[in-house]
Amino acid sequence: MDTRNPSCIDDFDKESLSCDEALERILQQVYPLSGTVSLAIRSALGRILSDDIVSPVNVPPHTNSAMDGFALRWDDLPKTGTMRFKVIGTAFAGKPFTGTVGDKESVRIMTGAAIPDQMDTVIMQEHAIAANDNIEVDADHTRGQNVRTAGEDVECGQVVLESGRRVDPANLGLLASLGLGEVSVYRKIRVAYFSTGDELRSIGEPLGLGEIYDSNRYTLFGMLTRLGAEIIDMGVVRDTRQAVETALRQAAEMADVVITSGGVSVGEADYIKEALEKIGEVGFWKVAMKPGRPLAFGSIGQACFFGLPGNPVSVMVTFYQFVQPALLKLAGERAENHYLRLIARTTTALKKRPGRTEYQRGVLSYSNQGELLVSPTGDQGSGILRSMSAANCFIILPSETESVDADSAVSVQPFRGLV
Ligand code: AMP
Ligand code: MG
Repeated sequence: MDTRNPSCIDDFDKESLSCDEALERILQQVYPLSGTVSLAIRSALGRILSDDIVSPVNVPPHTNSAMDGFALRWDDLPKTGTMRFKVIGTAFAGKPFTGTVGDKESVRIMTGAAIPDQMDTVIMQEHAIAANDNIEVDADHTRGQNVRTAGEDVECGQVVLESGRRVDPANLGLLASLGLGEVSVYRKIRVAYFSTGDELRSIGEPLGLGEIYDSNRYTLFGMLTRLGAEIIDMGVVRDTRQAVETALRQAAEMADVVITSGGVSVGEADYIKEALEKIGEVGFWKVAMKPGRPLAFGSIGQACFFGLPGNPVSVMVTFYQFVQPALLKLAGERAENHYLRLIARTTTALKKRPGRTEYQRGVLSYSNQGELLVSPTGDQGSGILRSMSAANCFIILPSETESVDADSAVSVQPFRGLV
């Protein structure tokens, strides 16, 4: 059965931009916002650092033991055979041994306890034979073993995190390990969005003939919230020249970024183009992709504008492939937009036309041999939102690729990472 969506397979247009070109053009025109705020580190989780973090301390601050065992001087150890050491005290984490150490003396030491002065080596408990106040130790040890030196994780004065890094759980712990209570982060980006379409109803309203519920504002809410944006939901805007123009003006006054869905094609009720030519600067692009071919990008006053297509899957695909990288750059994140791509073996044949990049929705799994497999989620029409809901990855079929046989290697982009 041919499951292609007729609205997306019509003409292959030589004027279309490739996905790479479209992304490059967008990123060239987007710059990080100015404006920072100082936050307690827990509140900074998920935010982007606006300054380099320079460590005010060594981590660990003191040379300490990596094991429970016995600290001693390596020079005292025998070259062959065994030797007896007197145990003259104990060092606990947070409760150091402060006595003086003589020849062939050792200190019982716990993990994390500071290494006593003049000692340099820790013998694991299991490698020493303890009797009364003595231990018997053999020759098979290296200088400095089981010792964590001061500053081995972070040195005082070192740049630990560069500006533009996102504060994730590991970075939160790292900041805490430096004793930092507050950090400076970029302000949140403010994004206003609305849906266009006379057929759209909001939840709670009954549906008349030909009407549908607006789902794009909900996927956009979800995707923008996940990115940490401040959002302004402007609801549904009717398909009239005036309504669209007024909504765009209002949105651009309130936000750094304006996103719309629908009304970017060349239908009779598609007013985004006209309105934008009047009040902003916009490029209308055909991007050689499926789904999501018509895409508008430009500016209205100070605000950045993205006009996404109306079909629900197209909205999500164009958002993830173009809007998200741009919003991250705008938000100050310096990381390259290298979303993880993996190679998987497709369990079924995949229909594809050359001349456009396709973002099919797939489910990743493992074979019994541990090989990464991917299966398409079924109907790939751009209006079938269940294909996104069931998927855990995009199957990315490059422009030049034709239909793909079962068992072929394909590129996939997982939706979720661990952190
Ligand atoms: P358009 O680009 O405005 O021609 O819309 C393309 C298709 O997407 C039409 O079938 C619309 O009914 C549908 N559509 C547009 N906006 C939404 C929305 N917010 N929620 C669900 N479907 C939509
Ligand atoms: Mg419409």
